[in-house]
Amino acid sequence: MEPRSAAAVGRDFPYTAKTLCYIEVAEDGTVSHGVDAGAYERARSGESRLFAVWPGSWRSDLFVIDDLDEYARAHGLLHDQQRTGLADHEHAVRWTLDPSEKKPMGSYITVRVHLDCGCAINDLDAFAKQMRAQQGWDIATTGGWGGSTTSGTYMRVRRKSLDS
Ligand SMILES: [Zn+2]
Repeated sequence: MEPRSAAAVGRDFPYTAKTLCYIEVAEDGTVSHGVDAGAYERARSGESRLFAVWPGSWRSDLFVIDDLDEYARAHGLLHDQQRTGLADHEHAVRWTLDPSEKKPMGSYITVRVHLDCGCAINDLDAFAKQMRAQQGWDIATTGGWGGSTTSGTYMRVRRKSLDS
């Protein structure tokens, strides 16, 4: 059976789904499953090929990961402006204490973030990574977050990291 094409599925392919099982087949035929950070580079250079099993309720399908850039964007290895809403630039950030915050002196506080540069925060992990690099913010990516471009996006940030 020929594997199906992940590229043909496009953005609907669940690259980061926990149920997806990745298989890497090296040039010499060695098979490993569960890919590491180097898999993208090895696949790009042709040292290996990447496959994924997408389990369905009736049967599972084998896919070849033939759009490696899409794979890398989904895994945060390549910046993806379309998916994250975030340009790859220095953001113009404003923040205020969120009205819901009852402990403004706590180690983590809820803030409302506005981006005057026009970016939208659709992916908190990607935003946290950028803000750590740009301003040293320590954003809690495991807690709740949300909002809109008009009211701002609320998120938990380590208070002391906002001062730097
Ligand atoms: Zn921006």
